Amino acid sequence: MSRRRAKKVAVLPGDGIGPEVVGSALAVLDAAGAEFEKVPVDIGLGRWKRTGFALAEEDLEIIKQCDCVLLGAVTTPPDPNYRSVLLRLRRELDLYANIRPFSSSKLDFIIVRENTEGLYSGQEEVGLEESRTVRVVTRRGSERIAEKACDIAAKRRKLTVIHKSNVLRSDRLFLKTCQDVANKRGVLCEDMLVDAAAYNLVVNPQRFDVMVTTNLFGDILSDEAAGVLGSLGLCASANVGETFALFEPIHGSAPDIAGKGIANPVGAIRSAAMMMEWLGEATLARRIETAVSWALETGKKTPDLGGSCGTKDVAEAITGYLRKI
Ligand code: NAD
Repeated sequence: MSRRRAKKVAVLPGDGIGPEVVGSALAVLDAAGAEFEKVPVDIGLGRWKRTGFALAEEDLEIIKQCDCVLLGAVTTPPDPNYRSVLLRLRRELDLYANIRPFSSSKLDFIIVRENTEGLYSGQEEVGLEESRTVRVVTRRGSERIAEKACDIAAKRRKLTVIHKSNVLRSDRLFLKTCQDVANKRGVLCEDMLVDAAAYNLVVNPQRFDVMVTTNLFGDILSDEAAGVLGSLGLCASANVGETFALFEPIHGSAPDIAGKGIANPVGAIRSAAMMMEWLGEATLARRIETAVSWALETGKKTPDLGGSCGTKDVAEAITGYLRKI
């Protein structure tokens, strides 16, 4: 009789509040009955200060042997010798789709952000009088992110392509490619300039369903969306490629509150639920989502949401609920 191999998850707590919120997410996974092998990997600024490597080659090899990654957050210092761990992971693992769901009783939309090109191409010339960053948009990159967005939009209402093609000629390729893919897939498709999208996110977020956009626009719009929802600490993300994925809350390492025990763990917990769904455990993922909604509805909130709970209080409320249902 063949036994299913236990899934291996590389656990990367990272810097600042990363270890605090990942600790909560792991406790919740445990209470939900998730079974997987944890492979801890030390990455980030702390590691760099100690060893000179934020992400060593051997770490990358260990990560590649796993099924997916659960990451907390990393601090990126303004030091030209420091290579961003996240950009490197996204590129080396070809995690080209960054999927960020935002939902509450008032809104429900998903931002699908291209994760490997655009203004985060890494192609830069830095000078004292003039600096340049190359914005890369390729047909292949646009096609595959549009396909991913259409996979999601096909099961929902519509796709909105967010761009700035009236000024940026590179976005004409992005827009046309997304429209062609949506037409081919039979997905209802509209488009909107990024400035109008930024405005509409605040005044009329209900009009959005699935948004697809380039790297920098997606980065900025998703923090804005988190603000509309109430806090960066609530929001989760999946960085997905063809066969591998990395799950992380959308917030950073929040040095201003690190170590105080007040970070909101919900974004990390929701990221862990997205991970379980990707690993084929949709029922378990839904149980975690239900427990999170119950905790928020019954006022188990950290200070970013106006509450007085600590990180552990919220995690314990959620684990307690999961053990009962
Ligand atoms: P940040 O997301 O860390 O924090 C922005 C604000 O939101 C802060 O006031 C912080 O206290 C608050 N906040 C964030 N997460 C929270 C949570 N879970 N609960 C309660 N409050 C929360 O962004 P920043 O301050 O611009 O960046 C800090 C560091 O994080 C920088 O080094 C940056 O490069 C890095 N960063 C990393 C990631 C990542 O790892 N994915 C993402 C963004 C920024």
